[in-house]
Formats: sequence, structure tokens, C-alpha cells
Amino acid sequence: MYYTLNRLSTQSSPTRSSVIMILQVLHCPHCQGTDIVRHGQTRQGKQRYRCREQHCASRTFLLDYSYPGQSPEVKQRIVEMAMNASGIRDTARVLHVSTNTVMTELKKRNRHSST
Ligand SMILES: [Zn+2]
Repeated sequence: MYYTLNRLSTQSSPTRSSVIMILQVLHCPHCQGTDIVRHGQTRQGKQRYRCREQHCASRTFLLDYSYPGQSPEVKQRIVEMAMNASGIRDTARVLHVSTNTVMTELKKRNRHSST
């Protein structure tokens, strides 16, 4: 299991610029698994990771999204799970997102669909 250090610098006060380090458990954006290994870097210097969960087909991913609900993969899964009658609460729990995120995605999807 890997942890990432997110560095947040608060710029509200110019005299006291504090840096907050947040320890965050690394989740695979595809399956939310935690069996993650480092997998080199991109040309842009971003850390690349690889998921070793068996049901995840060992996909690589970048840490572009600090919150899983912002990932397009997760958004897709939110819709898929909800369509399979998993329920909003179950979907949110499995995907590690808030129920609000699930409902927002479903509303968006309903708006786009013509049926
Ligand atoms: Zn995975």
C-alpha cells in the first residue's frame, strides 16, 4: 500500500505561508484497490502507478485526481452501478465517493439521456 503526500500551501496570509502535508491512501481509480506499485514517470514528470489487483487487468494510472469522484472512470462506474440498481448509498460506499457525488452524476446522466 502506498501513501501519497499532498502538499497544500495556504496563501491566505503572505507573512505566514504554511504548508500542510496530507497523508492519503492511494487507490486505483479503476477498481479502488490498494495493491499499487510505482510504474515510472511520464514525460511530464508525473508519477505513474500500476494497479496489481487481479480483477483490474493491471492498468496504469496517474495521480491526476485528488478525489476519486473527479475521475471520469469513477463517474462512469457511478452511472453503471446505479443502472444495475446498486443504490446510491452502496455505489458511494464502494467507489469511495460521497452520496452527493453519485446523485450529481446521475442527474447529469438523466439530463443527457433522451429516453
Ligand atoms: Zn485497479
